[in-house]
Amino acid sequence: MKKHLYFLSVLFLLFSFKKETPKQTTAQTDVWICGPHGAKRFHFDKNCQGLKSCTRDLYKVSLREAQAGLALTICGYEDGHGNGN
Ligand SMILES: [Zn+2]
Repeated sequence: MKKHLYFLSVLFLLFSFKKETPKQTTAQTDVWICGPHGAKRFHFDKNCQGLKSCTRDLYKVSLREAQAGLALTICGYEDGHGNGN
């Protein structure tokens, strides 16, 4: 009986550890840029005002790629201040 309880608690521990560890949020955010290269801003919203003037194709890249790889900055409409330019 005791052994059984021990086994259960070990199982429980294992499970609670398993729940704990993969906490990393690897949620990948994608952003939009105007053209394959040459863009200076990236956009979360494909229908953003800042993209209205884009005459090239829109390209979807990961946020990491846009920031670290292409050194783009977030567009003025979406920088969280909500005051356009
Ligand atoms: Zn934008």
